[in-house]
Amino acid sequence: MSVLIFLDQSAGHIKKNSLEAASYGSKLAEQLGTDAEGVVLAGNLSEDLAALGGYGLKRIHHLKNIALDQFDSQAFTHLVAGTAVSTGATVIVLSNNFNGKALAPRLSVKLEAGLVAGAIALPVTDKGFVVKKSVFSGKAFANVAIHTDKKIISLNANAFPVSKGEGTAEVIETAVASVNTGVTVTAAEQVTGEVPLSEAEIVVSGGRGLKGPENWGIVTDLAKALGAATACSRPVSDSDWRPHHEHVGQTGLTIAPNLYIAIGISGAIQHLAGVNRSKTIVVINKDPEAPFFKAADYGIVGDAFDVVPKITAAVKQLKGNA
Ligand SMILES: Cc1cc2nc3c(=O)[nH]c(=O)nc-3n(C[C@H](O)[C@H](O)[C@H](O)COP(=O)(O)OP(=O)(O)OC[C@H]3O[C@@H](n4cnc5c(N)ncnc54)[C@H](O)[C@@H]3O)c2cc1C
Repeated sequence: MSVLIFLDQSAGHIKKNSLEAASYGSKLAEQLGTDAEGVVLAGNLSEDLAALGGYGLKRIHHLKNIALDQFDSQAFTHLVAGTAVSTGATVIVLSNNFNGKALAPRLSVKLEAGLVAGAIALPVTDKGFVVKKSVFSGKAFANVAIHTDKKIISLNANAFPVSKGEGTAEVIETAVASVNTGVTVTAAEQVTGEVPLSEAEIVVSGGRGLKGPENWGIVTDLAKALGAATACSRPVSDSDWRPHHEHVGQTGLTIAPNLYIAIGISGAIQHLAGVNRSKTIVVINKDPEAPFFKAADYGIVGDAFDVVPKITAAVKQLKGNA
């Protein structure tokens, strides 16, 4: 019996969401009186895997094959499930991020394991195994009991803090053969030089209130000053003012940054569905009746074209690069 954590990597580095999953899985292992182990699938890693022992991982299984640098849900399911069986893991923890969403249900079927997707707290394990998750786009919570022997939990981003202490993990590196799934990822184009939206701590987002793509400079300037990612409402990406991968909401990405700054966005329910798990929401809108103000922690009633450049200048001044 152990807890196995899937460590998702990008360009050789373990993603922040996976460090949250590692911290969560280690705490859960402690609670269950067992060990936490990690599994990472990649060719070459720049991460010092042994140092991930600081997150409470006792052992890390590095399944090595250059083909694994590209995420393939079927190949990854096969290999993670195999590791779960060989290590005798009874609980598998992974992040409820893009890759985790593809992996968790496949693992659930393959291992005949009950799955709770979108957990937000450690399970209650004194009587059974009950996991709290958010439902209806964060509007309510459900406590879900898992009755199967093997259990899978995918953890929402920003739901559990990363905790790092001392410690070194034993690293077991195994060269694995390529998995023939009938699908080959031939190329993956990554946006470079920008903070990835799903991983960003701060997101600056713009809506139709910005009037047109030619005005987006005020959004990107603020994002650059803050080291933030940029996002937008759906009409903005539908109108091709911004690329579709920036669209957040019910039909776009769901994000949970520490700070979400919404500029000229009304706050329709479909938009809120993608951002209402943000830790702090700041809304800038010239209409004091805009619905977004009800969901905001801080609000500025004012014209974005007047307010935003002033905030950017103040941030630059604070950071000493005015
Ligand atoms: C099935 C379905 C799914 C949907 N999915 C999504 C989704 O995933 N994501 C999403 O975003 N939407 C989604 N929508 C659309 C959603 O209902 C709203 O229409 C959309 O979010 C509105 O975008 P907006 O706030 O940018 O624009 P608007 O509603 O036009 O709001 C613009 C805001 O800007 C303010 N403003 C104007 N000028 C200024 C200025 N100079 N300074 C400051 N503020 C200003 C206005 O007061 C207004 O509040 C969906 C709709 C449906 C039906």
